[in-house]
Amino acid sequence: MKESSNIHTAKSNDLKHPDRVPYLLACDAEGNMFEEEDYEVIGRSGTRLMGLKPEDFIELPEGSEFFNMPCRHPYGMNKHTGEVELLEDVYAVAAFVSPAYTQTFMPAYEETDGAETLPLYAYTAVGWLDDKFYTTAVRIDPDPRQDFENFDCEEIEQKTVETMQEFSENRLIQHLGANCSLTYSCPAARNFFMGRWEAPIPLSPACNSNCLGCISFQPDEHGIDAMQNRIDFIPYIEEVIEMAVPHLENAPLPIVSFGQGCEGEPLLVWQLIRDVIVAIRKRTKRGIINLNTNGSKPKAVDELFKAGLDSIRVSMNSVRKDVYNKYYLPNNYEYEDVIESIKVARQHGKWASINYFTLPGFTDNKEEFETLRQVIRYTDLSMIQWRNFNIDLEWYLSKLGMEDTGEGLGVAEVMEAIHEEFPHIAYGYFNPPIEVQEKYNALREK
Ligand code: SF4
Repeated sequence: MKESSNIHTAKSNDLKHPDRVPYLLACDAEGNMFEEEDYEVIGRSGTRLMGLKPEDFIELPEGSEFFNMPCRHPYGMNKHTGEVELLEDVYAVAAFVSPAYTQTFMPAYEETDGAETLPLYAYTAVGWLDDKFYTTAVRIDPDPRQDFENFDCEEIEQKTVETMQEFSENRLIQHLGANCSLTYSCPAARNFFMGRWEAPIPLSPACNSNCLGCISFQPDEHGIDAMQNRIDFIPYIEEVIEMAVPHLENAPLPIVSFGQGCEGEPLLVWQLIRDVIVAIRKRTKRGIINLNTNGSKPKAVDELFKAGLDSIRVSMNSVRKDVYNKYYLPNNYEYEDVIESIKVARQHGKWASINYFTLPGFTDNKEEFETLRQVIRYTDLSMIQWRNFNIDLEWYLSKLGMEDTGEGLGVAEVMEAIHEEFPHIAYGYFNPPIEVQEKYNALREK
């Protein structure tokens, strides 16, 4: 196992660029994929079509998947004329890139009548050249914890079943096994059963946000499916201790995280989390106890850090208040509470990340960039996790009531600019173990 210790920036990338822009990948009505040899890939950034350079592409990472996109015709750059054309006799194809990679351009296509809202995945431009697939992304995190080659399905299934049998009375372990590991193939749950890295602790069936793209709850009127069912009980403290303490004591680079895809908002059960943290720390000092959250309750966050919480990750689709509110549709909390929660973590001297839903054209919008700089200065943020935003772009635009996403600076360019101005801020995709936190803390002190 490789330790995740490299200090990583947007330039980091372990896959080669092609020597020219790849051919457009398209499919027929049956979903058969092929390259269009007269057309190069065109990217999309928000509401704009973008010509691409070979340096925008990397080889498609192992474990990535493909989507064909019904009722969506692709745009391509005609190699002979240099004109951008809509290919109305074929359908668009997108890549879902593996975790640890952040997309820089989406696929360019035009919806036709009858196009249904796409499922909650991130759609990235993809092409074909010299017998290889290429996509527009950067490797943002060197940590191998969700790399394809680390997941042997048979071994994971065997260890999941064995652990479920051993702890047959523990409802939390049963939930993590039957739902998360065996049904949804959740990488964090699978890593728990493999006894390594970051393990999930879902606790909260309810939420105080109404995110448009929530993966654990979707109202009927959205016409899209939630990707996972929420946990439907609140585990007992003993059930949590029984799974979390051995993990922290024995796993390499151990982390346990409250706030998972299969639950609501953990701060709604913050008193339980406080008691769990105290109970864990009576038994072991090893590893990181982390909270993934919407950051809606800064006073509760303060109490959790007093109890011994080590790090927090606050999710945000945007640091612009109006864009945040239109997506999160918060109940009884304000955007300012979210920012305050980040600041509270730093006032305790603890690690604070944002889970920054990255969507080309939005994340690199000029106003977004300027606001991000202000948020970094105000909160003293430790880390940006540039994680792909799982959403249908057209649906998102319509829900935000946005016709033009405005000037885009480029996702990779924004990553570079923030890194240049704030070199002490870590970039990544995952909550870092203590070893990585310490490296960055040392950088801060220089
Ligand atoms: S904060 Fe999380 S659980 Fe709550 S609505 Fe948003 S995505 Fe869903």
